[in-house]
Amino acid sequence: MEKFNCVVIGAGAAGLNASLVLGRSHKKVMLFDNQQNRNRVTQESHGFLTRDGIAPASFKKLSLEDVLKYPTVQYEEQTVTCITRQDDDTFKVETTESTFLTETILIATGVQEEFPAITNIYSYYGKSLFSCPFCDGYENSHQPLVFIVEDEAHALMKGKLIQNWTNNLLIATNGHEFSKEALNTLTAYGIEISMEPIKQLIGEDGQLQAIQFLSGQQIERAGGFVDTKFIRKNDFAEQLKCEMNELGEIVADESGRTSQKGVYVAGETAKIEPSSLIMAAAEGYKAAIAIVLDQTNNR
Ligand SMILES: Cc1cc2nc3c(=O)[nH]c(=O)nc-3n(C[C@H](O)[C@H](O)[C@H](O)COP(=O)(O)OP(=O)(O)OC[C@H]3O[C@@H](n4cnc5c(N)ncnc54)[C@H](O)[C@@H]3O)c2cc1C
Repeated sequence: MEKFNCVVIGAGAAGLNASLVLGRSHKKVMLFDNQQNRNRVTQESHGFLTRDGIAPASFKKLSLEDVLKYPTVQYEEQTVTCITRQDDDTFKVETTESTFLTETILIATGVQEEFPAITNIYSYYGKSLFSCPFCDGYENSHQPLVFIVEDEAHALMKGKLIQNWTNNLLIATNGHEFSKEALNTLTAYGIEISMEPIKQLIGEDGQLQAIQFLSGQQIERAGGFVDTKFIRKNDFAEQLKCEMNELGEIVADESGRTSQKGVYVAGETAKIEPSSLIMAAAEGYKAAIAIVLDQTNNR
């Protein structure tokens, strides 16, 4: 069975940047990915120096070209299914197609969204409905926007934030009742609010045109944001008996070292919360340094 210094699970920004630094440290790396990167639905990524506006597919292609320049790094499009620690402290990594051995593991598997239950909402996601105003607010500046949000605290926090990009904002709670105080605060900020259930989103090819409520009322909107929940869609950390906190996050230090020797985490999967390409990449870089330092010191 082929043995590696590190198996990196996930070729998003975190796993790719970690693989780059590991490759540049002459480490033998296997990078796995199953093409479920969170930003695959969108056409443009913003806010990464020298790559502002790049398509996610191009970002990945260019990143892989950088990473695979280093001869000790391999890349496979396979889904990792199971990881077990062996008696000699190495790990057995099983994928849908094969099995490998490795001294260390980097979990960089990202997160996935859970949307409010609104028919066809996902077909608008990444095209005219987004989750992060820092990523996609600028392109929607000064437009009539909607923020679909069922949670009052999130509505207060992010509703005010979105006003940096537009002062024509409708908050749609999809039938969830907000308190009088919350409504007063949002109204004072000039934000319109509808607490009616949403019947459907109206538009074409992912471009939102209007929100239709159950009453039949329709409000025109050019796009906007949706408040989603985020989940980690694998239990590798649990399989490896990593310590978790009460929020279900993997407990790790700032370089991604988990409670289990040889197991590291980077990117959005660590805290189960959204970040950005450049932040995930930086976490991958830091985890790679930790892996190399720990292997050096354990020698
Ligand atoms: C609509 C939208 C727009 C966005 N716009 C921007 C933007 O403009 N600028 C910006 O900086 N960020 C943007 N983001 C956020 C950005 O996509 C994330 O911050 C970033 O992708 C996180 O990187 P990551 O490496 O943690 O996870 P991901 O990029 O999600 O990568 C995780 C990878 O792990 C793989 N994986 C998971 N499980 C397995 C397994 N079992 N086996 C093998 N592989 C596995 C997945 O296939 C995936 O490729 C946007 C996100 C969305 C949804």
